[in-house]
This record gives sequence, C-alpha cells and structure tokens, in this order.
Amino acid sequence: MSKRRVGILGATGMVGQRFIELLENHPQFEITALAASDRSQGKSFAEACAWRLAGEMPAFVRSLTVEAPKPPLDCDLVFSSLPGEIARESEGGFADAGYAVISNSSAFRMDTDVPLLIPEINHAHLDLLEVQRQNAKRQRGFIVTNPNCSTIMLALALAPLHLRFGVTSVVATTMQALSGAGFPGVPSLAISDNVLPFIDGEEEKIENETLKILGLMQHGHITDAPMNVSAQCHRVNVSDGHMAAVRVKLNKLATTDEVKETLASYKALPQEMNLPSAPESPIIVRDEVDRPQPRLDRDAGNGMSVTIGRVQEDNVLDYRFVALSHNTIRGAAGAAILNAELLIALGIL
Ligand code: NAP
Repeated sequence: MSKRRVGILGATGMVGQRFIELLENHPQFEITALAASDRSQGKSFAEACAWRLAGEMPAFVRSLTVEAPKPPLDCDLVFSSLPGEIARESEGGFADAGYAVISNSSAFRMDTDVPLLIPEINHAHLDLLEVQRQNAKRQRGFIVTNPNCSTIMLALALAPLHLRFGVTSVVATTMQALSGAGFPGVPSLAISDNVLPFIDGEEEKIENETLKILGLMQHGHITDAPMNVSAQCHRVNVSDGHMAAVRVKLNKLATTDEVKETLASYKALPQEMNLPSAPESPIIVRDEVDRPQPRLDRDAGNGMSVTIGRVQEDNVLDYRFVALSHNTIRGAAGAAILNAELLIALGIL
C-alpha cells in the first residue's frame, strides 16, 4: 500500500515536532508538506525550527520549505497543531478544499457535527462525519478532532469504569507539564519554586469534552454522558507528562480489585485491529504506593498508555486514583495519528 502524503500545520511547535518524530518511520504516512506562521514561511524547516526534542531533527524534513497553513499544500491530508485562535479558519479552509483534517486544536472539538475521537472509546461517533458533510456541503473534506491533553487521559481512565459500573460523578485535579503550554511557554521565573493554579480554558475543556466523548451517538446526534465532571487545573514544574488525582462515584457497587481489573484489562478496537500506534494496554495499573510519576511513567506504551496508580476506596466519593500520560504523545500528536490510523482501517481515509 502506498503511503498517505501528509502536511503538518504548526510544524515548528511542540506538538508539530512530535508529529514529525512519530511519523519519521510510520508505515502509512509520509510527510510531504510543513506549514507554520509567517515568521517561518519561505524558510527551510532546518532554518525555521529550533528542534526541542531529544536527538537530531530528522533529516527528511530539514530541506522542506515551510509554507502558509492554507490550501493548496502538496499532501492528501493534514495533521493540525495550530493555536486554537487561528485553527478554525485554516482547518475549515482545508476541509472545504477537500482535505481530511486530523486536528489536535480546540477550534472544532465541541461542534455538534465534529467527532471528538478517542479510538478506544467512541469510534461510533464517526457517524457524525456524514452529518458534517451534509451541513458543510462538502464532497470529500472533513474534520476529525482529538480531545484536550488532560481530557484524553481522564476519558481513557473513565471509559472502562463507565462501561461496567456507570460513572455518575468525577472530580479531577490536574498537575500539568510545562510542554503543555507550547514553547517558550510559562516564564521560568513564574514556575520555578512554584505551582500555578490556573490554565486558561482548561477546566472548561475537561468538563465539557469528557461528557461529549463518553456520550451516546444516536440519530446523527451525541447526547452527553449523564455524569457531573468537576476539574481544577494546575501548571507544575515538570517537562512532559500530565497527572490527575481523580475521584469517582459509581452507579453500581464495585470492589477495589474489580476497579483495578476493569482498568488493567481494558482493550478496544485499536488493539483488536492492531493499529500501528495502538499501545498493547491503553491503561497500565501500578500497585507501588508511589506511582505513577511523570519521569518514570510518561513513556509507558511508547507514550500512548495511561498509567494509573493509588487505586483506593474514597471517603467522599466511591474510588480515587492517580492517572498520568504523555501530553504531547497520547495527549496530542500520538492521539491524532492513532485517529488517522483508525480512519484508514475503517476505510474512511
Ligand atoms: P507551540 O509550540 O506554540 O506551536 C505553535 C505552532 O503554530 C508553531 O508551529 C507556530 O509557528 C504556529 N503558529 C503560531 N501562530 C501562527 C499563525 N498566526 N499562523 C500560522 N501558524 C502559527 O504550540 P503547541 O504546544 O505545539 O500547541 C499547538 C496546538 O496543539 C494548540 O492548539 C494547543 O492547544 C494544542 N495542544 C497542545 C498540547 C501540548 O501538550 N503542547 C496538547 C494538546 C493540544 P511559528 O513557529 O512559525 O511561530
């Protein structure tokens, strides 16, 4: 099978660089176009981009010229990691021009005809693409989004519990890594020896997106999952890896062993279909009292697994646990690539 030719929008950023790293030897995709702001346009990628990931900038992108994030680009589909404010116009333009847009930005996530996809949870929501085609009067182009980085981790932890026991309430307190703010991100003097108890828009994203992801697709419409979600978000002095302390109330009685077993044994469509980026276990449960930790657990499952520990009964709600995942892999670029792999496997791409 020939590889799909992809363009990366926001290629010079933290998430854009992860896309390039993860796609370097991908069996289904090859990067043929890169786009970023007018600061970078017209330069070679090597000139425009200060490579911030470990190792060298992959040789195959060095001489590609950075272009404007608007069609036409020399590719079949685009992965987008543009800032939310400009993503709407750019991504909408690509979809209108006939491109598949696999977006990591927030711009379209809550549109009622746009799938907010986590392949392990809600592939049934892809039925929205037909509604989207009709609403936007498009023949070929479409937009599929992945959730916010903390939301993906939370929704993956909740999905198996919701399926088996029904989750009625969730309280999540996040501790989010610096790379989640892009580069250069939070000023060093603001975060050294400090924790910041505010990340603009993050609490609302977690509270709203979780209900859509876990919601039911019926008759071309998603009904939000019937649960209450409360989130408080904090920026902490960690390079990569978002963490959340989570409390849940369940509809049915469960033992601690049943909760752990339900999380640890969870497998879904990406694992059954053996998608290239699917981790063997979407959720890894650890029993050590001091895990998960960002430095030790963020790369679990090549950065695509969520690690959960400290599973215990809770005095206020029913259970509590700590979840952790890699914010620019499972929380961003890896999530979008897994979405695209699922679209190929289902014959949509
Ligand atoms: P970033 O490091 O600040 O990168 C932003 C990228 O967008 C750069 O390539 C930049 O190009 C480009 N850009 C900025 N303004 C532009 C404009 N006016 N026109 C065209 N291109 C423009 O940000 P990031 O962390 O990669 O995040 C990118 C997106 O992913 C955001 O929507 C963010 O919310 C989302 N996201 C991030 C994470 C994470 O953990 N970082 C996780 C999930 C989702 P130049 O280099 O040329 O300025």
